[in-house]
Amino acid sequence: GLILVTGVTGYIASWTALKLLEQGYKVRGTARTLSKAEFLKNGPFAKYTSNFEIVEVADLEDNGAFNEAVKGVDGIAHIASPFHYRVTDPYVDLINPAVNGTVNLLKAAKEYAGLQLKRVVITSSFAAIVEPHDPGHVFDEAQWNQHSINLAEAFKADPTNPSKQVPPNEAYRASKALAERALWDFVKTESPSFEVAAVNPVFVFGPVIHSVKDAESINTSVFLLYKYIAGLNPKVEEGAGPKAFVDVRDVADAHIRALEVEEAKGQRFFNVAGAFTWAEIVEILRKHNKLTKNDYPPTGEVVQSYVYNNAKSKEVLGLNYISLEDSVLATAESVERFL
Ligand code: NDP
Repeated sequence: GLILVTGVTGYIASWTALKLLEQGYKVRGTARTLSKAEFLKNGPFAKYTSNFEIVEVADLEDNGAFNEAVKGVDGIAHIASPFHYRVTDPYVDLINPAVNGTVNLLKAAKEYAGLQLKRVVITSSFAAIVEPHDPGHVFDEAQWNQHSINLAEAFKADPTNPSKQVPPNEAYRASKALAERALWDFVKTESPSFEVAAVNPVFVFGPVIHSVKDAESINTSVFLLYKYIAGLNPKVEEGAGPKAFVDVRDVADAHIRALEVEEAKGQRFFNVAGAFTWAEIVEILRKHNKLTKNDYPPTGEVVQSYVYNNAKSKEVLGLNYISLEDSVLATAESVERFL
């Protein structure tokens, strides 16, 4: 079958496309920067060039942005969405592209793809699940982040009020929660002939295969880990709130299985390998001699304070998660060239 992968030039999407190609699928990737897509075609996807085509989609928010790209596809993995914390206006920078991109994609799929389109999987996030909770809380896919949506809506109602400004991480979370909500609303109101599913990954680590020009351009989640590898953090800081990881190869598999598995239709999947602390990551890096830039002193034991239930993704999608040590080591090896 032919699968459309939106934002194919990104970290997660490039892995999803590669694994689809390896499994014999044809892939059509959308890109706003064609040179980054050509990099994939000539590099990581070189063995599969006859099965990989590139379509330019300059702006997710353009009405009809995906109308051409969806034609004739059998499945869609909609992965393109902004993930960064450079926020001046939460709506302009994050929420509008996330929501309008999703709605544009779904509308195009309904009107232009054709009846052979079986299923659309969208990349949501833990951001669409997580809300403030006391330590010990167990997170799973039954939960929804209304908290960040409320913050975004309070800002929208009173945008110049200094007390209604939205912190960048909350703006990102709102963008993902609202985009996923737009998916389920679309299904309810439009009753499309295709099925849908959502994949909700936590922090994604693992090897980088897409085109990255310098350290600053590494995607947001890997850059947090890179900062330890490159010695950019003065010391190990856990920060507040829950922290869990998943390897990018397991995120790619989650998308593919969510497209393939009959039982996955209409479902969302919490895509998480387990909890981590930065102290654990630093010890893994130390063990493998990857702390060449800054020898962080050992921090001692840090208690894991939240629980992440990944049973559904294992049972329905058949995922068998890569460990923190394997994921961290593979990440370090793939970003060493930027040191
Ligand atoms: P990347 O930044 O590597 O990928 C983002 C992709 O979306 C890129 O292809 C990017 O294009 C494209 N994109 C972003 N903004 C726009 C825009 N305004 N118009 C057109 N295209 C755009 O990050 P990830 O691979 O990590 O993220 C992919 C998806 O996974 C996102 O939906 C993100 O929310 C989600 N996610 C990521 C997690 C993580 O920890 N990494 C965790 C949970 C969810 P270009 O290559 O040109 O920049």
